[in-house]
Amino acid sequence: MYNDSMRDLVRTLLAELGEDPTRDGLARTPERVERALKFLTSGYDADVATVLNGALFDVDYSEMVIVKDIDFYSLCEHHLLPFFGKCHVAYVPRGKVIGLSKIPRLVEVFSRRLQVQERLTNQIANTLRETLNPLGVAVVLEATHLCMSMRGVQKQNSTAVTSAMHGVLREDARTRMEFLELIRRRGGATSWSAMSEQGAACVAEEV
Ligand SMILES: [Zn+2]
Repeated sequence: MYNDSMRDLVRTLLAELGEDPTRDGLARTPERVERALKFLTSGYDADVATVLNGALFDVDYSEMVIVKDIDFYSLCEHHLLPFFGKCHVAYVPRGKVIGLSKIPRLVEVFSRRLQVQERLTNQIANTLRETLNPLGVAVVLEATHLCMSMRGVQKQNSTAVTSAMHGVLREDARTRMEFLELIRRRGGATSWSAMSEQGAACVAEEV
């Protein structure tokens, strides 16, 4: 059975790490790890169309819509260690909006997979582009990567910032600044100058 084999693999992993998989504290660990990993990768089973279904509305509204400080948790595909932080999303509608609660749900669908931060950022932005055909869309992710901080790679408290911007949010400087100002207020990203330098996070370093 598939389930048994995943547990067997975890048992083997524990033994390879020099542990005794049969000792009390570890006896049920393979089962827990399996359940945890299945949950943390449950985004593979979620269908984006189903998630967004029935939440699109025609409106006569063309001001920027912003949902900021969405908490997300994901696993880096290079080390299977967590990276987590805040996601900020903005779009300028072209006659169509999406229910606000669907945006955090969309972030969840893509973050509960093995990811790199750059791809996660693009997937959220591209889905909104395809679904809403908006005048512009922007997604910014600020994240801490445990594969960097726990292993003492570079600055342990550094945050990786990635962004995907399209349409008026890319081309119109005033609209883009308005978005960046709004997400910077109250706990948003602190260092925009670091955006281009730090974007690489886990990608630059695949050891
Ligand atoms: Zn990593």
